[in-house]
Amino acid sequence: MKITADPARCADHGMCEALLPNVFQVDDTGVVRVAVEQVPDGDIADVRLAVDSCPVAALRAEDN
Ligand code: SF4
Repeated sequence: MKITADPARCADHGMCEALLPNVFQVDDTGVVRVAVEQVPDGDIADVRLAVDSCPVAALRAEDN
């Protein structure tokens, strides 16, 4: 699974980082950064939850 984040949409809610700080990191400017190329298998369910929970739909997960 690969994740992409749209920095133009991200509104610094931080819910994704709270769920998975090893995958999502909000930088000093309040924009999310995806810290991994591929999601570890054990984190896939939480990534789906984070994607669905983002209030501005800034995250996308694609199976590969
Ligand atoms: S991607 Fe969504 S949940 Fe994560 S910091 Fe940005 S707005 Fe908040």
